[in-house]
Amino acid sequence: MSHLEISNLRVRFPTDDGVVRVTNGVDLDIEEGENLGLIGESGSGKTVLGMAIVRLLPGDAKIEGTIRFNGRDLLSLNEAEMRSIRGREIVMILQNPTNSLNPVLTIGSQIEEAVRLHSELDKERAKKKVVELLEEVGIRSAARRAKEYPHQFSGGMKERAMIAMALASDPSLIIADEPTKGLDVTIKRRVVKLIKEVTKTKSMLFITHDLGSAAEICDRIAVMYAGEILEIAGTEDLLNDPLHPYTKGFLDSLPSRGLKPIPGMGPSLIDLPSGCKFHPRCDRAMKLCKREDPPMIQKENGRRVRCFQYA
Ligand code: SF4
Repeated sequence: MSHLEISNLRVRFPTDDGVVRVTNGVDLDIEEGENLGLIGESGSGKTVLGMAIVRLLPGDAKIEGTIRFNGRDLLSLNEAEMRSIRGREIVMILQNPTNSLNPVLTIGSQIEEAVRLHSELDKERAKKKVVELLEEVGIRSAARRAKEYPHQFSGGMKERAMIAMALASDPSLIIADEPTKGLDVTIKRRVVKLIKEVTKTKSMLFITHDLGSAAEICDRIAVMYAGEILEIAGTEDLLNDPLHPYTKGFLDSLPSRGLKPIPGMGPSLIDLPSGCKFHPRCDRAMKLCKREDPPMIQKENGRRVRCFQYA
């Protein structure tokens, strides 16, 4: 049994302009202790997938499929049952720590709240735990810095504080949504190293468009496009031998690999193309690709790719 198992997940948002189909039959699994990267362009549905797992989507979202965590279907739990899992067994590190931290509360008091919410510790022991957590994420003079406010922390330190908060409940699964976004290269490297260290004994879904960070942290990588998973492979396999035309294009578009963009734009999620969602941009598209949805094909080494070329 996988730690997290997502089957045929469909998330839709009704709007005045039509139904936005954000995820379109996603199948994913994460094993105990595994770090799975989820990469793709902005708007491919990565963040919505993460929010769906912790059931933090807006009320008008229509969700179908199953999300099993340690064998329990999260979508069938009531809100009280879900609250006992969210923030305790599964935590999400959201994008942009500046928006996530409360500017009028000290960093320490915000982490302390998370500690006390998920443990029986009294105030004094909770404060000690806060200092330990801040030390664990590499913040020096932790006792003093715990008394400071978010505006006194740099971007990298705020990210560390968010990670400390996420670790407060000793979760078994962390969903990290673009935790390195907006950080400069040096700080990013340090945060990536920290995430790698603190998730050694945990499972993680690492959502990012930054393949370099995913390569550093993740055991496997899934590639998402227009709400579908197009390819999943071990990190080395995916980087050295991408199979799907989109994955190849995505890698070629990186500065380190020639900065050659994929022609065209990602499709509108209200008006998705027929057949393979990537066919309008694919230089290998056949007639069949415009007509039919390619199935997910199982390849060697547990790799999977959604493309007729491999059928
Ligand atoms: Fe390209 Fe066809 Fe494969 Fe889609 S199924 S990626 S259009 S070759």
